[in-house]
Amino acid sequence: MDAQTIKAVIALCQSQTGVDYTRRHGAICPLCGTPRAWVRRTMPWNGKIRERYHKCRKCGFNFKSVETE
Ligand SMILES: [Zn+2]
Repeated sequence: MDAQTIKAVIALCQSQTGVDYTRRHGAICPLCGTPRAWVRRTMPWNGKIRERYHKCRKCGFNFKSVETE
């Protein structure tokens, strides 16, 4: 696998487990690193975590983020 493929595999993995969501940067695309991805869906708080579904405004990558209290 070349570096680009490895990067894509890591991004895909992170898109399923969820990247960190911060109030300051929103969700950062795991594929291209663009901050503040569009929020497609916000889930209610589930205990101490909240999940959001995003689409990157630059590369169009779909991924999940996790916000913790
Ligand atoms: Zn992206």
